[in-house]
Amino acid sequence: MAEKVVILGGGTGGTLIANRLRRVLRSSAEIVVIDPDNEHVYQPGLLFVPFGQAAPSSLTRPRHRQFRPGITFRQDAVDRVDPDKNEVLLAGGASVAYDVLVIATGARLVPEETDGLTGPGWMEKVFTFYTLDGAAALRQALARFDGGRLAVAVMDMPIKCPVAPLEFCFLADSYFRERGIRDKVDLTYVTPLDGAFTKPVASRELSRLLKDKGVSLVTEFNTGEVDGSGGRLVSFDGREVPFDLAVVVPLHGGQAYVERSPGLGDELGFVPTDQRTLQSKARPNVFVIGDATDIPTSKAGSVAHFEGEVVARNIARYLAGEPLDAAFDGHTNCFIESGAGKALLIDFNYDTEPLTGHFPSQIGLPLLRQSRLNHLGKLAFSWLYWHVLLPGREIPAVHSRMPAAGKRFSAAAPR
Ligand SMILES: Cc1cc2nc3c(=O)[nH]c(=O)nc-3n(C[C@H](O)[C@H](O)[C@H](O)COP(=O)(O)OP(=O)(O)OC[C@H]3O[C@@H](n4cnc5c(N)ncnc54)[C@H](O)[C@@H]3O)c2cc1C
Repeated sequence: MAEKVVILGGGTGGTLIANRLRRVLRSSAEIVVIDPDNEHVYQPGLLFVPFGQAAPSSLTRPRHRQFRPGITFRQDAVDRVDPDKNEVLLAGGASVAYDVLVIATGARLVPEETDGLTGPGWMEKVFTFYTLDGAAALRQALARFDGGRLAVAVMDMPIKCPVAPLEFCFLADSYFRERGIRDKVDLTYVTPLDGAFTKPVASRELSRLLKDKGVSLVTEFNTGEVDGSGGRLVSFDGREVPFDLAVVVPLHGGQAYVERSPGLGDELGFVPTDQRTLQSKARPNVFVIGDATDIPTSKAGSVAHFEGEVVARNIARYLAGEPLDAAFDGHTNCFIESGAGKALLIDFNYDTEPLTGHFPSQIGLPLLRQSRLNHLGKLAFSWLYWHVLLPGREIPAVHSRMPAAGKRFSAAAPR
């Protein structure tokens, strides 16, 4: 009998794994993708909306159009998974049986879990650019902002694309310079981390960049309350950061259905996953891709792309009764917009932190250094996303396994 693979979520990971599996599995295999809506958002583009560099309408495309022929798209929300019965229950009341399940439902923003965040001032002087509506509303607010204290704050980790709020600071610096009011804006970056970023070399380089651009850095700030009307971020240990305009990255969790599915998720709603094979820890016939996993790497589209190769191979092996390939090394690759038409690039994995040097070899894009070439790479990523990543194709010279050639390993030593 034909195997049935059911994919929950038709975003970055769900789309690219459906398209890869369509090529890898026998044509008789049935592939079904379930997602509640038919609008695929190119999330990296959200960063540019507040600065008028991208129109919200340019970031979305019909979801069903991103799938290869022979993939069924079912528009409904997952209400719960019953791993004992190999069955998915949908909000519309139907149930869908599977031989293999792929969880690709990403991360959920939970702003309501921070005291005061969605209270007075929300979407008036407290915004997020992590949603399409939020990014569009922030565009208006920034255009009206003529000076004062702008705080960019991460509520807590993990978040999608951990460099995005830093990029926001760099672009805000450029934006206010272009408007001729930079000297009237007090820009502050507020993070729960002990530095600008997680790993020492990247943290050092990015802290330096914040300093160069006149952005104050407040570290180890775990926001307990956002007082929108009073204009204050208050940490659990009683410190305060005042603001006239706040741009926040809300808390993230897994999707609510994960908590309703016995044994599937952890306390945050993420799905415990083997970090090398990408098989779930709940059941051997359940695989996980993208932001829904609990693996210790960035929640980024590039990661979902690199994972896709391993997940597709391991599903084919699982169906053939062969041992899985423990091949995923945590490879992550992110462009970091730094303003004025430049960007940095970081490339790392579970074992190697982001280092200086070049990518993907000695000749290539500069790592952790601002360059025009990297900015062009960031802009090209949008085209690659729709035409290479989502269709499940390979990017020339860029592989699932992180390249070591070109990296300056001695850079890890403190300067
Ligand atoms: C502002 C911003 C900037 C970013 N910049 C970058 C960048 O520069 N580079 C980069 O690599 N990454 C970037 N990312 C991160 C990237 O977009 C995500 O990591 C990536 O989309 C994750 O893919 P995913 O498939 O796991 O989740 P998503 O693409 O979010 O897809 C999840 C899907 O699950 C569906 N779903 C949710 N609940 C249910 C349910 N109950 N039933 C069925 N379906 C459900 C959703 O509708 C959605 O379609 C950025 C993200 C943001 C927010």
